[in-house]
Amino acid sequence: MRDERSRELYDRALSVMPGGVNSSVRATMPYPLFVERGDGGHVIDADGNRLIDYVMGYGPLLYGHDLPDSVQSAIQSHASAGPMYGAPTEVEIDLAEFVARHVPSVESVRFVNSGTEATVSAVRLARGYTGRDKIVVMQGGYHGAQETTLVDGEAGDAHPSTPGVPQEFARHTLPIPFNDEEAAQEVFEEYGDDIAAVLTEPILGNTGIVMPEDGYHETLRDLCDDYGSLLIFDEVITGFRVGGLQCAQGEFGVTPDVTTFGKIVGGGFPVGAIGGTAEIIESFTPAGEVFQSGTFSGHPVTMAAGYESLTYAAENDVYEHVNRLGEKLREGITEICEDQAPEYTVVGTDSMFKTVFTREAPESFENSCSGGCRQRPTCPRYETCPKNGGDVASAQTDRWERVFWQEMREQGVFLTANQFECQFTSYAHTDEDVEKTLEAYKEAL
Ligand SMILES: *Cc1c(COP(=O)(O)O)cnc(C)c1O
Repeated sequence: MRDERSRELYDRALSVMPGGVNSSVRATMPYPLFVERGDGGHVIDADGNRLIDYVMGYGPLLYGHDLPDSVQSAIQSHASAGPMYGAPTEVEIDLAEFVARHVPSVESVRFVNSGTEATVSAVRLARGYTGRDKIVVMQGGYHGAQETTLVDGEAGDAHPSTPGVPQEFARHTLPIPFNDEEAAQEVFEEYGDDIAAVLTEPILGNTGIVMPEDGYHETLRDLCDDYGSLLIFDEVITGFRVGGLQCAQGEFGVTPDVTTFGKIVGGGFPVGAIGGTAEIIESFTPAGEVFQSGTFSGHPVTMAAGYESLTYAAENDVYEHVNRLGEKLREGITEICEDQAPEYTVVGTDSMFKTVFTREAPESFENSCSGGCRQRPTCPRYETCPKNGGDVASAQTDRWERVFWQEMREQGVFLTANQFECQFTSYAHTDEDVEKTLEAYKEAL
């Protein structure tokens, strides 16, 4: 595969940008492929190579690189009317109404410009609303580049996971392992009256893909109710992807107090949102006291792209298509693994998929989860499948980054850069793409 032009561009980029990129995960080894343009479910790189793309912008691109006509024309007309105003526009209401209509827990929404900004604001909201400081998070969960959640360690002994965050900040964050009901109970017994919120992804989507065990979210919901804490679902990745328009909370039948959104809800443009009951969300200024503001928030081009994208999904077979291809990929990769790498675990649901390079094979495959790990206690893989961030981190993570990713790229498949980030099927992918991808997995695994 030719890559001279990508290498040249990376050389230039390194002179003027830290690590040559604007988001750390893009700095793949030995250098990133620079993208020239997208085409359906494919990208064409700077050297003219065509790859099947499952990165999908790390989540926002439900339609791949070909937007439906209605989305394209709404983007064009809002961009040419004048990009933004510092005054409200009708299309913000359209998108807010759409979200409130479809997502069970949402009555009121504040739009912001990134998933990070959404979780920062949600944490401030929870602290302001409850008058408490402590936030429970899941080890290995991801909520963007924000001070409260860039924390490692255990509840009561947490420390910043990056330089630049004061140790004192980490004191207010209580990390626990996902899927561990006992740990959740214990953290509430010890700190309950100081806990403003539990902040969790409904499915860990940035550390492999880890599904919740049956009853786990119900336990978190009950604990929050008992102690007067808020349950915040970070649906930046699962929102309008898992469970379709009702999001993962609708699929699981668990109602959070606050939900953060990002990625798909902006139709490919920078976006974030915080939604919930009107009573809680109206704590934001100017309705309430918790300060929240943004020059670009509710940007008309983003709002139009998001609104038209979701409207198209409501009226067409979008989720049916992306979920069917997701299932087909997961089933196909599961079969290949049984043959070639029985220790690996295929994970994911709906249009999300990943293979975690776990280290132990089950004794048999009989009656095991075939379309992605479901945390079923009767599955022969149950003892070895990843149940939390720590389990994924102890897989063969280097193999993905240093060998497997490159091999798949050689085979013409563009995957996410490391073992942790998940991958997506889109409306533009075809059965033929999936079949080619499975052939590539067969070669590379
Ligand atoms: C991507 C992501 C974020 C951060 O969103 P950005 O737009 O990258 O700031 C936060 N939470 C989750 C669950 C995400 O997947």
